Amino acid sequence: MNQFPRNDFSQLNPPVRTLMGPGPSDIHPRVLQAMAAPTIGHLDPAFIRIMDEIKTLLQSLFQTKNDITFPVSGTGSAGMEACMVNVVEPGDRVVICRNGVFGARMADIAQRLGAELVEVVVPFGEAFDLGMIEEAIGGKPTKLVGVVHAETSTGVCQALPEIAALAHRVDALLLADCVTSLGGMPVNLDAWGVDLAYSGTQKCLSCPPGLAPVSFSPRAVQALKDRKTKVVSWYLDLTMLLNYWGGERAYHHTAPINMLYGLREALLVVLEEGLEAVYARHRRNHEALVAGIEAMGLRMLVEPQLRLPQLNTIVIPDGVDDGAVRRALLQDYNIEIGGGLGALKGKVWRVGLMGHASRRENVVTFLAALESILS
Ligand code: PLP
Repeated sequence: MNQFPRNDFSQLNPPVRTLMGPGPSDIHPRVLQAMAAPTIGHLDPAFIRIMDEIKTLLQSLFQTKNDITFPVSGTGSAGMEACMVNVVEPGDRVVICRNGVFGARMADIAQRLGAELVEVVVPFGEAFDLGMIEEAIGGKPTKLVGVVHAETSTGVCQALPEIAALAHRVDALLLADCVTSLGGMPVNLDAWGVDLAYSGTQKCLSCPPGLAPVSFSPRAVQALKDRKTKVVSWYLDLTMLLNYWGGERAYHHTAPINMLYGLREALLVVLEEGLEAVYARHRRNHEALVAGIEAMGLRMLVEPQLRLPQLNTIVIPDGVDDGAVRRALLQDYNIEIGGGLGALKGKVWRVGLMGHASRRENVVTFLAALESILS
């Protein structure tokens, strides 16, 4: 009989890193502690209360009155898919703005849903000119316009209110990817006219990956009600999910209880600090990082007015070995940063200052470490 070779496995002991990449970011200690609370049933009245609290806290963070605001069980991509699969039907015209990896993912999902896909494309590192989006919409009946608010693959911020206005002119819904923006910079769904938004827990919320907060405006809910075809995903079908998160509290899937404890705590951490204070801290640490990078003679990829405070893309100087620098940061300083994705592979470093990781000591330690590796 096979004996389980227990001695071949050492005790789980992951290294303690400083997570300054594109996500996951450092977890707030209060979040880890909350996650260790005893698991209760997903239909326990005490848990239902926690779910209601999470919805209220998320509404504050998203700055929305949308009743349909809750976390999907899954990572940010599940949030993206949940938003799209519930409103897009085969043959619908969908305009996707693509200036990085995550816009491309939205376009992929639109195609899989049988939409008539129109893409607006600009190079990685740039933002969209409104005229291009207006031209792509072209005054034609359009179901959805999709855009990434904070493109983690490039470090570019895209302003949303003007795009919402363009979308609404043809009665289209505006879908915004807020995975990296939520908790790190203002996200004002109602004031900006965003109809569908999704995020992820592992960036500026300082939570482990695994949940995707989403919000659906009344117009988005109407689009769901007006569907002629059944939602093609069982797991992400909002009409069924909402029986658990809303009215009936009927079993749909087993909610990840302890992850939700963590999210509740993470939202409290952000809201207790205060939204303005949180955003100001992200901006301050970003400015300090940029000042240090430029003082070292290095260059940022993105123009100053388009830069994200929580995701900084640094151009790798000629002759510097990308992999060797990132390995040295990890091995010698326990600091994780990200490399470039897609068109930017090998060309940039992506340095995250997200949530709990957006701290002055992280900026100073990273700059000192990078300088000593490069010298
Ligand atoms: N959108 C953006 C802007 C992201 O940065 C990410 C992840 O990095 C995603 C979507 C996908 O999220 P996940 O990897 O959690 O599925």
